[in-house]
Amino acid sequence: MDSDTSASTAALLGSDEPSPAELVNADGSSSAVLVCDHASNRVPRQLGTLGLDAVQLADHIGWDPGAADVARRLSTLLDAPLVLSGYSRLVIDCNRPLHSVGSIAEQSDGVRVPGNRGLMPLDRERRVTALFQPYHDAIDRLLDARTRRPSLLLSIHSFTPVLNGWPRPWHIGISHWRDRRLAALMLGVLTRSVEFTVGDNAPYPIDEDVDYTIPVHGEGRGLPSVMIEIRQDGIRTTTGAAAWAARLAESYRLIEAEALHILGSSFSVSSSSDPS
Ligand SMILES: [Zn+2]
Repeated sequence: MDSDTSASTAALLGSDEPSPAELVNADGSSSAVLVCDHASNRVPRQLGTLGLDAVQLADHIGWDPGAADVARRLSTLLDAPLVLSGYSRLVIDCNRPLHSVGSIAEQSDGVRVPGNRGLMPLDRERRVTALFQPYHDAIDRLLDARTRRPSLLLSIHSFTPVLNGWPRPWHIGISHWRDRRLAALMLGVLTRSVEFTVGDNAPYPIDEDVDYTIPVHGEGRGLPSVMIEIRQDGIRTTTGAAAWAARLAESYRLIEAEALHILGSSFSVSSSSDPS
């Protein structure tokens, strides 16, 4: 590798810019491990605004509004570790396989992304190296370090209330990949409330060609895992985010013991908080 290539690979983020991954409550005692792939709409300074205006970047194409707020609150309520991505999904989507067209989207929900058009392989590689890989390395390190406690992976997202002119009926959705067992437990609790419409593998089923986090860090490691999608109008305010975090924490506590049996190991709820 020549020095020019090396310099441009290393320099996407300035030394004063935030980390591509934020780890919260790393030593949390819960069996739940939380991740938030679309936590931020920040763009590295060097990439400007990707040719978008502030309203577009603040919209759902740039991130999952409200998801980080819910994830942080849930981390506190459950005493669970949490990894959040530090940059916009439009720079590189941390929940898309690198071969996916959605990895660095040239268009999202009908909006062209000028800063993503005509990229050279090196441009792509810089985003992978600076943002995608460190985020997933942080999740790997966290899970690798949990050798004495069980891990159930909960991936927190939010979805837009209207897509292509169609109002979406679900208040929350629980999605799974091939292993439905943890999702079934969560759905069993959440659907007890007549107040909410709960999506079963909706609004988005998990597909290994489209999704990365659950197939790789969840089932890929043999961990029970779910993707939790919350409709954005329910978590726009801190009150709404707090309410959904509380509901999710309560739901998790109700199913935790049964969920741990899915692991088929000697772990139990009580041992999860006792690393000795
Ligand atoms: Zn998302």
